[in-house]
Amino acid sequence: MPKRILYLGGGACTLVALRRIAEEARKAGIEVEHTIVTNSEWHYFPAFFPDVALGEAEPDDVRAPVENMARAYGARLVLDTVTRVDPAERLVETAGGEKLGYDYLFVCLGTRYGWEDYPGLKEAAVHNYTLEGALEMRRALAEFRGGDIVVLVPEFPHRCPGYPFEVLGRLVYHARRRGVKARVRLVHALPMKAALEHLYDLAVTWHRIHEEIGDIEYVMGKQVDHVDPSTKTIHFKDGETMRYDLLVATPPARPPKPLEDTPLVWSKDPRFLETTFPTFRSRSYDDVFVPTDSAMPSVNLPFAGVPVHYAAVAAADTVLAELKGASGPILFPDSMTIVLDFGKTGVAVVFDVEPAPGGVAKTKPYIAAKHPMIKLLKYSFYKGWIRSVKDLVPLHVST
Ligand SMILES: Cc1cc2nc3c(=O)[nH]c(=O)nc-3n(C[C@H](O)[C@H](O)[C@H](O)COP(=O)(O)OP(=O)(O)OC[C@H]3O[C@@H](n4cnc5c(N)ncnc54)[C@H](O)[C@@H]3O)c2cc1C
Repeated sequence: MPKRILYLGGGACTLVALRRIAEEARKAGIEVEHTIVTNSEWHYFPAFFPDVALGEAEPDDVRAPVENMARAYGARLVLDTVTRVDPAERLVETAGGEKLGYDYLFVCLGTRYGWEDYPGLKEAAVHNYTLEGALEMRRALAEFRGGDIVVLVPEFPHRCPGYPFEVLGRLVYHARRRGVKARVRLVHALPMKAALEHLYDLAVTWHRIHEEIGDIEYVMGKQVDHVDPSTKTIHFKDGETMRYDLLVATPPARPPKPLEDTPLVWSKDPRFLETTFPTFRSRSYDDVFVPTDSAMPSVNLPFAGVPVHYAAVAAADTVLAELKGASGPILFPDSMTIVLDFGKTGVAVVFDVEPAPGGVAKTKPYIAAKHPMIKLLKYSFYKGWIRSVKDLVPLHVST
């Protein structure tokens, strides 16, 4: 009987794991049954959404039909919402009434956005954490005639820890090129000292880049209570308030709904899922792998797409080794590069990675380069990723 592998979600995590297993199993002559369940007909590249918001990319640049990857790698595609995951029973249920069993489960559902935990925030703020959000932010920027732009980070970590620092530079760049007078402020939940520690000291360099760019202010260590869209005011827990003309926010990270009440949630911090390094196998269930981004904080990796890519490869290699009856270490790269666009310039951040006791990782990040060319590198990589999914052809045709 071929092993049944079920992938939840249609993002980078699923694409990378599915591609790896399908290609390698085919070479080894191992039969596998792949099923993808996802609630969108599109495979999105969310890191590209800010480019849509800033008018530097169009919706079709940031998405490709999810069906292409299913067809290319011989997977059954179920377009439906996952409503329940029961790892003890090896069962996944969908809104449409599907009941799906599996031999291996890949949890690739990304991160849910918990806007509701801050009253008024969703109504008041624009964001580029979804394509619809990015298009709304684009409209808001087009109508913006000047004043105070506040980039609000109500909680940390959130998806892509470097994003608020990046977008500050990009917002200043965007306003200047349009001749709009804007003062851009970062209002961050962490105090500066903690932010520097959590952001791995990189924030020091980012701060310097912001000083070069100019027109950026920092207000650190502010806990948001609620936001009043009618008066355009942020209310903080310490009783202070702040007015804004345009509010850009990062959404609080929460576990995907169908996993909320499962042992896959990280007991130390239930905003995230739990995984292990370097196989990305669940601590609770041997047949479940969790290489999606909302699990990265549990193993000390950055909450971003680059580690997801390597995590999906490592999890796929673990399954392949079991399918082949092979043994040997599962390798995670000893360094990863994350590229940031600051508007006027770009920065490449390298994370050296090594295993640490207890099935987690230890990272040592440093800035490898700062150059406007890095912006181009980032843009080309994103464009190439989506282009490659648009151009996918079935494995038996491509070989
Ligand atoms: C604004 C922004 C900037 C970013 N910048 C960077 C960056 O510079 N560098 C970097 O490395 N990373 C960056 N990221 C993060 C990166 O995009 C994510 O880490 C990556 O997309 C995670 O991949 P994933 O497959 O785990 O999750 P996702 O890509 O979110 O995929 C989740 C999938 O699950 C599906 N899904 C969700 N819930 C359900 C459900 N209940 N039922 C069925 N399907 C469901 C979704 O439709 C989707 O297909 C950024 C993200 C954002 C939003």
